[in-house]
Amino acid sequence: MFVFKFGGASVKSAEAVKNVISILQMHSYSKLGVVISAMGKTTNTMEEIVEALMKKNTLEFLKLIEESRFFHSSIMNELFSDKKSEIFLEVYAIFDTLSQRIEAPISDNFGLEYDQIVSLGEIISTKIVAAYCVQEGIVTAWMDARELIRTNDVHREAEVDWETTTTLFQEKFIPKHKDADVILTQGFIGHNSNGLTTTIGREGSDFSAGIIAYCCNAESVTIWKDVPGMLNADPKWFDNTVKLDSISFREAIELAYYGASVIHPKTIKPLQNKEIPLYVKSFINPKEDGTVIHSSTSKDHLVPSFIFKMNQILFSFTPKDFSFIVEKNLSDIFGRLAQSNAKINIMQNSALNFSILVDEDKVSIERILGLFEDNYNVKYNRNLELVTIRHYDQATIDRVTIDKEIILQQKTRETARLVVKQLS
Ligand code: ASP
Repeated sequence: MFVFKFGGASVKSAEAVKNVISILQMHSYSKLGVVISAMGKTTNTMEEIVEALMKKNTLEFLKLIEESRFFHSSIMNELFSDKKSEIFLEVYAIFDTLSQRIEAPISDNFGLEYDQIVSLGEIISTKIVAAYCVQEGIVTAWMDARELIRTNDVHREAEVDWETTTTLFQEKFIPKHKDADVILTQGFIGHNSNGLTTTIGREGSDFSAGIIAYCCNAESVTIWKDVPGMLNADPKWFDNTVKLDSISFREAIELAYYGASVIHPKTIKPLQNKEIPLYVKSFINPKEDGTVIHSSTSKDHLVPSFIFKMNQILFSFTPKDFSFIVEKNLSDIFGRLAQSNAKINIMQNSALNFSILVDEDKVSIERILGLFEDNYNVKYNRNLELVTIRHYDQATIDRVTIDKEIILQQKTRETARLVVKQLS
């Protein structure tokens, strides 16, 4: 079995759905397990619907549902020639039930309400794509991931129960391939032991594909994206990007750790454990080779990769009594930082000074000043960028530091990290 995953952008319109089906047809000689996300930006809309529900804003709640219903019905109208087809009724029934939700009592558990509603984006999307597969002659089974992926009770960030999930896939999912070439299911969603819907975190459907592959011992996973594969830098910040043809699981984890955002970081681990290769390929040019992520490390060093984090702020703490920065102050500093929600991207110390770099939009400057002002002088420097270069050389460092002042740098054998400021 091969596992394919298509994200929201690959099913954002009727034309996009037709393209997905043409990719499935190209691979119809093999048994496919296919994970599909909610269409386009539906998950964001569903989040707004939950907000409106929790605020009991009936007008806004119904307006948003109407918009989402219209979006999906436009896609269905283009895909299905028979307007009496069951799929219209099925999808409208989901929206009707959702509309009535505001009349029933609402629990205080935001996460629980969130998961029950936001998951509907994937249910609707997969129902539409499955019905279209059938219309186009692909022998397809639709399966509800809420009956397959067992998680704990932590709504919105649920953890997978691997043992139960493996059993469920072995007993319910794999046998479906006897009668169907394609088994279509949802990413992102699961269920807890009480049968309630859970979700595994935004952008989680890459991870769902990894879970399915692990539980079914698949031959490979392919994530279909709107880029040709994994690139050595985000084209948003960098001209002349190069595709990485082959990288190791380890390298992919390192890149994700430093902030590369092509694949959900949790996806790699289950695949690495069973040595299941992961392909990242373009749904626009599906015949082209993408990137393969696998055990071999032989090509990791061929191309330097760049990861940019913009909008960084560097805080420096100096003890007011001029004491040296030693373990005692460090534990005090970390204790204070733990109360600030700051996620440290890089840190450095000298004799009298300890510095941390964080995402500016994730911290409050006032909060940090307030937490430290009794015993430390605090300085901060805004509008910085953090550049991480894997497999660097001097030429690549020179390239990213043109017109920039280097504020701080750290190098290991494989990785250079530079905090820089644009020269005005
Ligand atoms: N639909 C969910 C989201 O937008 C999950 C996913 O697509 O990965 O976050």
